[in-house]
Amino acid sequence: MIPEAVSIREVGPRDGLQIEDPVPLDAKIRLLDALAATGVPRIEATSFVSPRAVPALADAADLAAELYRWPNIEFSALVAGVGGTRRALEAGIRTVEYVVSAADGHSQANTKSSTSEAVARIEEIVGLVHDAGGKVEVIIATAWDCPFDGPTDQERPLWIAEHAVKCGADQISLADTIGTATPGRVARLVDSVHSRLGEVNLGAHFHNTRGVGLACALTAVEHGVRYLDASVGGLGGCPFAPGASGNIATEELAFMLADLGVDTGVDVAEAIRAAGVAEDVVGHAVPSNLLRAGLPRPAAE
Ligand code: ZN
Repeated sequence: MIPEAVSIREVGPRDGLQIEDPVPLDAKIRLLDALAATGVPRIEATSFVSPRAVPALADAADLAAELYRWPNIEFSALVAGVGGTRRALEAGIRTVEYVVSAADGHSQANTKSSTSEAVARIEEIVGLVHDAGGKVEVIIATAWDCPFDGPTDQERPLWIAEHAVKCGADQISLADTIGTATPGRVARLVDSVHSRLGEVNLGAHFHNTRGVGLACALTAVEHGVRYLDASVGGLGGCPFAPGASGNIATEELAFMLADLGVDTGVDVAEAIRAAGVAEDVVGHAVPSNLLRAGLPRPAAE
């Protein structure tokens, strides 16, 4: 079941940069320019969370003020509560990702509230964003495993997804926050979401911590996921999830899907170039294998 198209969201500027030493705004703009040149349709620009907790993204409002430069890209920002939602809307963001951790341990570490408390805020956040003419995606973090609580009872992400849909969320995403998901578990949870909720705009977010990130992404696509997060060069990690490492790399995801005839809109050569810019911006090597090895040589004429 390979679809004609999959929509990739580039999360490097948020998930990628949040664990790095703060990068100056002009370097972020240089990275966004390189990302825009790849043709990726959606970019997670930043997050509106506590600047003390995530100093690398303390410039969220300043960055949001620069996003007019790339009018063809749908920019989003991550929030963890009502206050962040208001700040994102004030800054002009109209696609808001509200993250709810399915596991209480990660939820407390990330937002100082339980999963139930976070779920209870979905309705108000959807209302605020819709009143502003925007869209809300509910991201279900630790959908498979929690760094503190261990395996997540698979009823919990289903319960959050069901509640989010009831509240009018425009999209749901399953996030493998610590990179422990494996293709079989991905297939089971994605199938469960579909059998519980029917047609729903379902996305997925994988980290390559244990080397099977792309396998999880492909499995998700085969089971009906049409929205995937990926990070330039494979940058990334969660500051509140010990042991987390990079997201799946955007250029590698686009390279894999192109072979299957799946349209992502991403130019793989440009995406590799952007990974080089990302390396320059963060000042160290990024995990991407494709950046190291380069594209295979084309067939001889
Ligand atoms: Zn992540």
